[in-house]
Amino acid sequence: MNIPFNKIYLTGNEIKLIEEAFNMASVSGDGYFTSRVSSLLEEKFHIPKVLMTTSATHALDMSMQLIGLETNDEVIMPSFTFPSTANASILQGATPVFAEISQNTLNIDPDDIERKITKKTKAIVPVHYGGVGCEMDRIIRIAQEYNLYIIEDAAQGVNSKYKDKFLGAWGHLACYSFHGTKNYISGEGGALLINSEDEELIERADIIRQKGTNRNKFLKGEVDKYTWVDKGSSYTPSDILMAVLYAQLQHLDIIKEKRRKIVCHYIDNLRGYLESGLLKGMTSVEDYQDSNHHIFYILINKEASRNKVISKLRDFGINATTHFEPLHSSSMGQSLGYNLGDLPITERVGETLIRLPLYTDMTIKEADYVIHKLDKILKEI
Ligand SMILES: *Cc1c(COP(=O)(O)O)cnc(C)c1O
Repeated sequence: MNIPFNKIYLTGNEIKLIEEAFNMASVSGDGYFTSRVSSLLEEKFHIPKVLMTTSATHALDMSMQLIGLETNDEVIMPSFTFPSTANASILQGATPVFAEISQNTLNIDPDDIERKITKKTKAIVPVHYGGVGCEMDRIIRIAQEYNLYIIEDAAQGVNSKYKDKFLGAWGHLACYSFHGTKNYISGEGGALLINSEDEELIERADIIRQKGTNRNKFLKGEVDKYTWVDKGSSYTPSDILMAVLYAQLQHLDIIKEKRRKIVCHYIDNLRGYLESGLLKGMTSVEDYQDSNHHIFYILINKEASRNKVISKLRDFGINATTHFEPLHSSSMGQSLGYNLGDLPITERVGETLIRLPLYTDMTIKEADYVIHKLDKILKEI
């Protein structure tokens, strides 16, 4: 059997809606499907304003610009994340400050956020790893106490909840990703979420997204020509891609349920290894974390055997992978002054984590094959 690591899922409506976009000549930014998709996300996830973007990376860049980061400002975030999270702050001249994660969720540890706050801290970026929510109630209390912004990196968190609220609806600002490897895809694409009714803030976000122009005011008939008013770039996705995304979002909960079945099957069958000590951890989903099941990971016992496990799985046709190289120990992280040993939990997780194959249309039979072969390998090692 050959089990890929990931496989895209199509609802079957994608081509039809692309054709509709072409028939309406709606191909550039902010066309018919862009507006359908942003309204759907606003309504479903209770977000006051959703602006579709070319990627989550760009939505993060826009967020850091919107909060007015300046040189010497500090932004606290986990080291266990994708480089985009940190780049967004660096591009504004600010400094990312890496905090430790909690062993049970691999999300930023609120206690370490508090330890890392200085006079220069301006914002906190919680990253919801694998679609499992960070402790947002505690993080919000900290942000309020120290008067900090929260920008959620919910790139992996579309259609997940923490307690009673969807991920992306907690922070001042947040981002989603619709990259081809995520649960809902447009190929490349993302969204900036603004949890505020502040018209001025929303207008500024729109200007940044529209190449620094007030084109949106023009489209609404509020000015008779549009002009250059601020710094900005080109962050509007093509309506063709938003047609694809609209087709995907028609299966919002079907996709989540299909992934839930596979993840629960993995957990039920692998839980015993935690008790026997063969595994140190795995994706866990508590009742208050209504996850979208973006990732299923295991933490193996010894660093030395991770590559062995991955290569033995590959021999059986199973494609498993590692995940984030911690940002603080990367070459860029070291040039920011970080050293190996600074964040021990993050480093151990970075060295011992394996992501098992998981895709929306995966069958129980395929998952069983992975479980069976993994069992064999773990017992040999
Ligand atoms: C995927 C991902 C991103 C980047 O998303 P793009 O849409 O590809 O720019 C950022 N942060 C995290 C945590 C991600 O997983």
